[in-house]
Amino acid sequence: MQKYSALALVKHAFSKHQHWQQAWRNPTPKRHYDVIIIGGGGHGLATAYYLAKEYGITNVAVLEKGYLGGGNIGRNTTIVRSNYLLPENTKLYEFGLKLWENLSLELNYNVMFSNRGIVNLAHTSGQLDSFRRRGNAMRLQGVDAELLDRRQVAEFIPQLSMDNERFPIVGGLLQARAGTARHDAVAWGYARAADARGVDLIQHCEVTGFIRENGQIVGVDSNRGPIKANKVGLSVAGSTSLLAEKAGLRLPLESHVLQAFVTESIKPFLDTVVTYGAGHCYISQSDKGSLVFGGDLDFYNSYAQRGNLPVVEDVSSLAIQLFPAISTLRLLRSWGGIMDMSMDGSPIIDKTPIDGLFLNTGWCYGGFKAVPAAGFAFAHTIATGRVHEINAGLRLARFDSGYTVDEGGKGPTPKSH
Ligand SMILES: Cc1cc2nc3c(=O)[nH]c(=O)nc-3n(C[C@H](O)[C@H](O)[C@H](O)COP(=O)(O)OP(=O)(O)OC[C@H]3O[C@@H](n4cnc5c(N)ncnc54)[C@H](O)[C@@H]3O)c2cc1C
Repeated sequence: MQKYSALALVKHAFSKHQHWQQAWRNPTPKRHYDVIIIGGGGHGLATAYYLAKEYGITNVAVLEKGYLGGGNIGRNTTIVRSNYLLPENTKLYEFGLKLWENLSLELNYNVMFSNRGIVNLAHTSGQLDSFRRRGNAMRLQGVDAELLDRRQVAEFIPQLSMDNERFPIVGGLLQARAGTARHDAVAWGYARAADARGVDLIQHCEVTGFIRENGQIVGVDSNRGPIKANKVGLSVAGSTSLLAEKAGLRLPLESHVLQAFVTESIKPFLDTVVTYGAGHCYISQSDKGSLVFGGDLDFYNSYAQRGNLPVVEDVSSLAIQLFPAISTLRLLRSWGGIMDMSMDGSPIIDKTPIDGLFLNTGWCYGGFKAVPAAGFAFAHTIATGRVHEINAGLRLARFDSGYTVDEGGKGPTPKSH
């Protein structure tokens, strides 16, 4: 792999940047692989990279029906954090946050991780109490957390409307190591690094079914013909239930649309990530200057990557309530992604009951920040057939035993997680 560096940039300037190596190859699918990963989003690409790097398994193909990074990995609001309450989630996300801190160096690709912090706003004393509990749980598990009173929030984010008429702000929970990253750069960085280790990244290759022998999955059917493999991993986010059904597997998942919004660029305005506590709105400023924000699901099941206007209105009104100064900004773009909402709001990284088939899903609102850790854990599970300590609490069988990981305490209603 050609190394990216300041020196390489200067060197290539002399040839007008005409001779950069392609970031990844465009291979023809082989007839057989050790492992096939379905889905060229963040999770699929990271899994392929860690299979090659950590386990020396390089005879791997990532099959992507569209182009790399065209799914949720390129559609999210880029928030990275590990401020969870339950140990099953904390283990995974904190492991991931540590990977994020070194990811640009590891991949030799600038993923623009910026640990600018995240503040969850509290609007009642009861909510502040529950944040205190979450902050204490985080600290007990070795994760940074700081409870802010009203004055501290106002000092930290002076643009906030602290006394807004609907839900005045009484405090907040800060995780200073959290932040944002450039979403598609994460896909490209993992793609390039996986390709350099011999992984075949095959775009415009839609998996249409599974090949079975004696009950075991031994490959896939695709629009580019059958491709055999010893093991197959599903990393297809909102399309998981569709593909799992083709394998005869019914999963505790629903697919829903989530939208994101971007304003025109303005001068530096907000240097942290803010989440509203009395509704659903999260907002940050991108390095280009746009305010990037999102909110609730559209609340109906869908596989369409676009949303409806009521959510645009709702989320924009919440953002303006928090920051009245942005009310005259133009909204430049909005888009939707399909979320794989699990029944307890927590992910699943595991083997399936079908031999040869492995599962990575249930990411709900939070799968972008999980990309490095989930890729790492999924690679471990595929390579060894066992769960890693970081996905030990995130197995599929929890839905049989009833021991779910209900982080939000919202019960078995995927759309409310
Ligand atoms: C609007 C929005 C905002 C979000 N904000 C955040 C956030 O701030 N922080 C956070 O942590 N998470 C966030 N998320 C969630 C996060 O983006 C997802 O959980 C995560 O990206 C999902 O994993 P992925 O990257 O592998 O998915 P994807 O990028 O969707 O990858 C799945 C891939 O599978 C491919 N595929 C599907 N079916 C097939 C098939 N049959 N054959 C071959 N390929 C197939 C798809 O084309 C797709 O490219 C957000 C999501 C959305 C939509």
